[in-house]
Amino acid sequence: MEISAIERLRNTMRGAVLCPGQDGYDAARTIPNAMIDRRPAAIARCTGAADVIACVRFARELDLLVSVRGGGHSIAGKAVCDGGLMIDLSLMKGIRVDPRRRTVRAETGVKLGEFDRETQAFGLATTQGVVPTVGMSGLTLGGGWGHLHGKYGLAIDNVISADVVTADGRLLPANDSENQDLFWGIRGGSGNFGVVTALEFRLHDVGPVFGGAMFYPAAKAKEVLHFWRGFVEASPDELVTQGGSLSLPDGQRVFGVAACYCGPIAEGEKLLKPLRALATPVADMLGPMSYIQIQSMFEPFFPPGRHVYTKSNFFRSLSDEAIEVLVQFVARSPSPHTFAPFLEHWNGAATRVPVTDTAFPHRQVSWNLLLWSMWESPSDTEKNIQWTRECYETMRPFLAGGAYGNYVTDEGEAIAREAYGPNYDRLVSLKNKYDPTNFFRMNHNIKPLAARSA
Ligand SMILES: Cc1cc2nc3c(=O)[nH]c(=O)nc-3n(C[C@H](O)[C@H](O)[C@H](O)COP(=O)(O)OP(=O)(O)OC[C@H]3O[C@@H](n4cnc5c(N)ncnc54)[C@H](O)[C@@H]3O)c2cc1C
Repeated sequence: MEISAIERLRNTMRGAVLCPGQDGYDAARTIPNAMIDRRPAAIARCTGAADVIACVRFARELDLLVSVRGGGHSIAGKAVCDGGLMIDLSLMKGIRVDPRRRTVRAETGVKLGEFDRETQAFGLATTQGVVPTVGMSGLTLGGGWGHLHGKYGLAIDNVISADVVTADGRLLPANDSENQDLFWGIRGGSGNFGVVTALEFRLHDVGPVFGGAMFYPAAKAKEVLHFWRGFVEASPDELVTQGGSLSLPDGQRVFGVAACYCGPIAEGEKLLKPLRALATPVADMLGPMSYIQIQSMFEPFFPPGRHVYTKSNFFRSLSDEAIEVLVQFVARSPSPHTFAPFLEHWNGAATRVPVTDTAFPHRQVSWNLLLWSMWESPSDTEKNIQWTRECYETMRPFLAGGAYGNYVTDEGEAIAREAYGPNYDRLVSLKNKYDPTNFFRMNHNIKPLAARSA
């Protein structure tokens, strides 16, 4: 990009514009997944919606590729582009809780830990994910599964309104009464329709929870899975569980089940007793804790700078045969940092929302399979990717054709169709209306008709 063009952008921005070689450029383009090493021609460090509007107008005029960085945790690395303009929202940290209305309005550079900290100051919370360094905006726009989803729905189910800078450089409100189609689309359609500069959420009373994790010897995986599958069938909305094959910090390979009961502590303790009595654990780390504590529980397992490759899909059903095949991969990953095979239980409020109420469609499923491979050295990349693929292909007969977009590395139309499922065609119509030239395409992309024929 020519220097005169960069200067022109700088003159229209309150935030800085960084170019290769400048202080801060490398830090701003680096994201947690070390597999991604892209170099935008310029990085616009936005300070508010006006900067975002300036970026969109500028990139349109110069026909630049654009990427949008919220928290930068997309495994596929969609926050960063090669060449082009990276619209960096990570400095946009404004957040205000309204305790009377029980709402929060947050700018889209806010991370989950920051979000939880502000809402918990008032004893309030809403569903977000389970690792505090992840971005609130990317997570929410893709769906947003977490410890409260059984009781209060996914993150998107709690969104009341959004401010969206669309491809024509306008700032549009999107909510139940204004631009309702856009409001539908951003709740699951990720960044396909514009740059979301702020999100407003409904909040709920959330006090201390009963939760943590049980770690069993890896050899007990089959027994644990059979028990866990039956145990959650009758579990209340307040209980959210996830678990699988992982290594403890001392390197010991275990099969863990993490739980969060968001209700009276004594009831959670009673409910989880059978899980604790299931077998002799390597460690029992269940107990009462603050919501902030349980939201930070996974953080040490996901430091930035590791190589990450993931595959994910929902189970058609967690059958005996599926368990039989799954346990063959427990404790077999080439890397001790990997979480795979790993399962999330999807239950309660999130699964009662009709499939077409939001763009996010995966509402009628109980178990999500995650193969979350992580390793340190680039020389280990090939064997880790190969293992992940082999595990996925072996599990494929048991999987539904529908992936949670927030968890997958792979791209392309087939993945987008899996991610958006039965809502795909409606999303294409919306894309035709709001982004007919596919200006926003660094995402699980919904191709508008014009881009398709081109
Ligand atoms: C360690 C780890 C733990 C995770 N845990 C969970 C979990 O518990 N639950 C869960 O549901 N997911 C979880 N995820 C997945 C997570 O939801 C996605 O990776 C999500 O994309 C991260 O959002 P981000 O803002 O950090 O990422 P980014 O890479 O910044 O953004 C992801 C995508 O969204 C787009 N985007 C981001 N912000 C905006 C915006 N404001 N406007 C328009 N487009 C935007 C980006 O362009 C990109 O395409 C986890 C991921 C990691 C790496």
